[in-house]
Amino acid sequence: MSLQVVDARTRNSNSGLQWRRKSGFERLLNANDVRAISAQALAASKQGRPTESWRRELETMDRSARFSRNASRIFQDLQARLGIPTVRPILLPMNSQPFWHRGPHTFANYQSTIRLPGVADVVIIGAGLTGVAAAYRLKDTGLRVVLLEQGDPAGEASGRNGGNFELLPENSVGIYEGLAPGRFTFMRQRYPHVPTEVLQAVSERQASLVLGLALRNRDIFKKTILNEGILCDFSPRGWLHIASSESEEQGICDEVSLAAQHGQRIAIWSRGKIAQEFGIEAAFLGRFIPGDGTYHPFKYVCGELRAALRDGVTLYTRTKVHSIVSVRPNEHRVLTGRGKIAAKSVIVATNAFTRELLPELSAIEPYQSQIIVTEHVPDRARGRIVTSDNGPVFFNQPREGAANGHAPLLMGGGNDRRMKNPSMRRRSPAVHARLLSLRDSFYPELVGQPPSAEWVGPMAFTPDGLPCIGFLRPGLVIAAGYNGYGGSYTTAAGHAAAEMAITNVVPDWLPEEIFSPRRLLTNEPLFLTEREGLWRVAASLCRQIQSVNQKLSEALTLQQPTPVLPTSSAAQILRRAGQGRPTDSIEPESLRAFDAFSKFSREEICHLLRLMRRWDLPKDTIIFTEGSPGGTCFVILEGAIDVSINAHGQQQLLTTLNAGNVFGQMSLIEGVPRSATCSVRSDAVLLEIERQPCEELFRSGSKLALKCLATLNEGLISTLRGADLRLMQLDRAELQRSSTEMPTSSLLSDNDSVERCAGVGIVPEMSEVFASPPTVDP
Ligand SMILES: Cc1cc2nc3c(=O)[nH]c(=O)nc-3n(C[C@H](O)[C@H](O)[C@H](O)COP(=O)(O)OP(=O)(O)OC[C@H]3O[C@@H](n4cnc5c(N)ncnc54)[C@H](O)[C@@H]3O)c2cc1C
Repeated sequence: MSLQVVDARTRNSNSGLQWRRKSGFERLLNANDVRAISAQALAASKQGRPTESWRRELETMDRSARFSRNASRIFQDLQARLGIPTVRPILLPMNSQPFWHRGPHTFANYQSTIRLPGVADVVIIGAGLTGVAAAYRLKDTGLRVVLLEQGDPAGEASGRNGGNFELLPENSVGIYEGLAPGRFTFMRQRYPHVPTEVLQAVSERQASLVLGLALRNRDIFKKTILNEGILCDFSPRGWLHIASSESEEQGICDEVSLAAQHGQRIAIWSRGKIAQEFGIEAAFLGRFIPGDGTYHPFKYVCGELRAALRDGVTLYTRTKVHSIVSVRPNEHRVLTGRGKIAAKSVIVATNAFTRELLPELSAIEPYQSQIIVTEHVPDRARGRIVTSDNGPVFFNQPREGAANGHAPLLMGGGNDRRMKNPSMRRRSPAVHARLLSLRDSFYPELVGQPPSAEWVGPMAFTPDGLPCIGFLRPGLVIAAGYNGYGGSYTTAAGHAAAEMAITNVVPDWLPEEIFSPRRLLTNEPLFLTEREGLWRVAASLCRQIQSVNQKLSEALTLQQPTPVLPTSSAAQILRRAGQGRPTDSIEPESLRAFDAFSKFSREEICHLLRLMRRWDLPKDTIIFTEGSPGGTCFVILEGAIDVSINAHGQQQLLTTLNAGNVFGQMSLIEGVPRSATCSVRSDAVLLEIERQPCEELFRSGSKLALKCLATLNEGLISTLRGADLRLMQLDRAELQRSSTEMPTSSLLSDNDSVERCAGVGIVPEMSEVFASPPTVDP
């Protein structure tokens, strides 16, 4: 080996002097010295690896030489590129360029025409994964589509990410506990004033919608790659998520059934399987999703963009949009540094930059994430993704650069950090240190090896952890805010935004009360202030009640059949069409006196009363029986109503309802048969409303309609709470009963059972079990 050019001052001499012989360890090596060493070592390398003699030489230098500050960084850069460890502290690499930007950029400074067009049908702002997907969807439509980008395509998050596409966007508050529980935690944090039952109902629905959206995204993404033949190192080899606690284990197991409902297979991997497949010693089990994996996001965006440009879309890079003025629904002015465009529709696909353009969306906040690349790593991931909240960490070994059982390793993680300016590229030394320690825990063979590059990029987070895809104003569509999971959403989001721009209609699979950016303009959840949302909450509550009622009925069947309702021979069935009286004799204030109606104005109550009928019923009248057709609901104005179900062939009392209570909502909302029998305990005055006037009222979308829906929901929530409580009481009674039958050694202590109940916050005394039975909506 010859180190002729090590010392810059002897660079041109033919002395063949080795740096050590010439300068020993005394002289401080400067940047030029090390650059020269680097050039020689790299020139001698084969497939990026050093020759044996160079390896030894560089290891000796690492141990013994003295470097200037700059020289140290250049030397570590050389070690990183050749895959040689250091005994020194590992510095932030010199190279802050993303792995994906290593090749040439075909679309850098691309302009479809010299001058910007003055008019367009659709203007798309932002040429990342989202904006380019929208452009791709609009190709071949004959529309004038203009794509504007302030930098170069895929220059921000889309060219700076981890290169993963995942089915389950598992962003979470704290440790991830599964998609639905994760949604619930977000909802509780965002809307602390909304009843838990509503949040639960909404979270379940959100989890299902999110999964549906991610599935759609993955399908379109794969189809685009296939149809266009995009060479983007597409590697759908699977995603392993390793749990980091027992509750997370439970959460990921629950996801298996959620995924199954959507026809998607998810496997649970034991620790042994994880060790066998990845060589990772995991503390908990993992979830493996086949079909997910890695890709080259930059090549993907460029491939999609090439097809869009081929088929009629125009692109203007380095063209910053300063503002959007919406003149009327289908007339917007897009003001750029290079002129103005009049557009019928505008799609804003600016992710972390959105609030700079639209300050009203300041709730979409930029956060920074950081990634390191280590070269020549044993290829244990083989194009699959691994993630864990214990870090948090995500890593993969992309196919670009994979050879001879080795591949680069991309690892990102540590805590994401809020950033003021999404263009900022400042890397965090603390995250750097964290990433190295995480890397060494998964790949102990890499201890001491410096990373070859480390970069940051801006992500966009929303307060509820859900993306924003929908209209901000008529004709102005937003698609942004992916909370670090653009690989799960952006392609479908871009396509949906494109469809909305041309049809002015929001697709069913992106319900506005969940995904619309308008939800970020207010602290009130859209799912409780808009008709559709309220109606869906009501339907979800009904389903929850049905399921708890089912369990209640089973539990009651197992119990001793007490107490039993007397069945009066004098009882008569109420439901005879045309019966009942008008409500003119009812004083509106008597209804307003009840909590459920206190928010209604006198005029609103009068309106409601006109839609209702009055029933004056003597004791023992059966209002309806279990299983009979429903479709109406009742308000108790006076008296008391017993709710019972049939178990053991006898009527078992579930609860007694009093004045001010509403019952029968489920059959009104869901149109299902009555799930219990209701009879008059003491002479009662009831108000009944039929499904048809109710539907007409709801369809009107008036303030009164919203209030009514909210009242129905409140009734359902209290029903659900009551049913849950009753179930708990029965559980506890059953536990105590069985404990008296068991040998003392196998008894649960009272504390154990208290703990079981304490999880749900109520520990009822046995005396309560039948003394104050809860409501069960019939
Ligand atoms: C470090 C990092 C790691 C990540 N890892 C993952 C991962 O592992 N899995 C995953 O699913 N997701 C990951 N993400 C998130 C994912 O990359 C993003 O969600 C996705 O790229 C967003 O795409 P986009 O097109 O919406 O936004 P961007 O790619 O940011 O594109 C927005 C574009 O709009 C342009 N723009 C902004 N303002 C204007 C303006 N006024 N005028 C003109 N142009 C404008 C920007 O220049 C930019 O090019 C990561 C992100 C980062 C930064």
